[in-house]
Amino acid sequence: MAPQSGTPPSYTASTEEERSRRLADVHGRLSKAMDNASSLGAFVDPRLLVELRDVVGEVLELIGDRPACRYACGDRGFHCPISEPLEREAARLQASGWIASWDAVEARTAHDTVCLCGSRMSYLALRPADGEVATAWAVCGLCRHWKAL
Ligand SMILES: [Zn+2]
Ligand SMILES: [Zn+2]
Repeated sequence: MAPQSGTPPSYTASTEEERSRRLADVHGRLSKAMDNASSLGAFVDPRLLVELRDVVGEVLELIGDRPACRYACGDRGFHCPISEPLEREAARLQASGWIASWDAVEARTAHDTVCLCGSRMSYLALRPADGEVATAWAVCGLCRHWKAL
């Protein structure tokens, strides 16, 4: 395919340039998708929402923030299983001799906590084998988000 303009394609051109071009392009499409969504009624036409989601995903990728988690979990006081898996931390503590612990009050607090995904959370607590003080968490069995208690 022939180059479209006088500027020959430069394969050594900074990816920065390519990135700005893509960003401008995707920004234009985002504005258009948002306009369409608001003027045509996004909330009754799933196709518009899908288009909007795809464009937003592209924008996030371009600005280097991969849409790994679909919950805005950090803003809402939850820890994300993607960036901070609790299983890993629990396994590390267990490997260093921590054992399961139980506190009725904490357990109730955990069970009374509703996760981002809408499920009730489970209780998990560990303490050093020779210690009294436990570390406790509320953890979601479904999406694995968690909170420190
Ligand atoms: Zn998350
Ligand atoms: Zn959840």
